[in-house]
Amino acid sequence: MAGGARLRDGSPKPLSFPPPTATAASPESIVTTTAFITHPSCLQHEMGPDHPECPDRLRAIHDQIIASGLEPHLTRLEAPAATADQLARVHERRYVDAIEAAAPSSGLRYLDPDTALNPHSVTAARHAAGAVVHGVDLVCSGEYQRVFCAVRPPGHHAESRRAMGFCVFNSIAVGAAHAMAAHDLSRVAIVDFDVHHGNGTEEMFTDDPRVLMVSTFQYPLYPYSGVDNPAPNMVNIPLSAGNGGAEFRDAVRKHWLPALDEHEPELILISAGFDAHREDPLAGLAFVEDDYAWVTRELASVAKRHADGRIVSSLEGGYALSALGRSVVAHVRELVAN
Ligand SMILES: [Zn+2]
Repeated sequence: MAGGARLRDGSPKPLSFPPPTATAASPESIVTTTAFITHPSCLQHEMGPDHPECPDRLRAIHDQIIASGLEPHLTRLEAPAATADQLARVHERRYVDAIEAAAPSSGLRYLDPDTALNPHSVTAARHAAGAVVHGVDLVCSGEYQRVFCAVRPPGHHAESRRAMGFCVFNSIAVGAAHAMAAHDLSRVAIVDFDVHHGNGTEEMFTDDPRVLMVSTFQYPLYPYSGVDNPAPNMVNIPLSAGNGGAEFRDAVRKHWLPALDEHEPELILISAGFDAHREDPLAGLAFVEDDYAWVTRELASVAKRHADGRIVSSLEGGYALSALGRSVVAHVRELVAN
């Protein structure tokens, strides 16, 4: 969370992130099975010059993807905007309408002390959710097996009728609801390794037996939820400040993997926050890139066992720019390779 971040009005920085194209940049010899979905509006959503949830996050990811050599293995696609009906599967319709109406024509409008809209934010939030919807369509049609959505604002704190914690629309939840409504899936898993508990996702799917949510997060830490599992389909594993890869992997092996194998998900969705990294300024866990690579391999194995390999992952947190870019590379590399 922003903590002491100072928020004030600011106009968007000029864009330097090249727009995605629908054309694979890869040589003909490489068949890409992984789509990388983003949208230019995600660079225009800005909550003030000192806000940690900033457009440079996407630029850092872009730079590290290029430097890593992964680019030829990815097909870049542009995210469509989620429709109001798609958003209203998990948000109250009047909330969707209120967010649309709240977009300012200039400056910032605050939805909570840490979450603001600039004139581009609602468009960005709709494309962020639309990226996950599109990703679900792509893996359910078999066109791609893996999708990473490099989008912002993040989504997992957004509840059915409340924006909070940098989040406006709950993109991963919109994607899960779309998978069930449009593709008739009856077993979906949502994996959340962001350092903050995904309270919004939990609120939307508690007691929905079609959705298994497994998560790790630091506690106590914003939003201070998740310690009690409210329903059998929620597997929340709080970690303590200072915990690192050993404790994370232990939690995954003991709690996530058995629950996932029992649920037999037809699709795995990942709320991919990278703010549990040891360099992250907003939290106190100590994950490193190899932990993100490891968990991605484990999830790829689960996906192969139950879901025809289908994984759609969407960016949540991660605020140390270099660590964020390196961690996304570690994650995406395993999505591509496994
Ligand atoms: Zn977070």
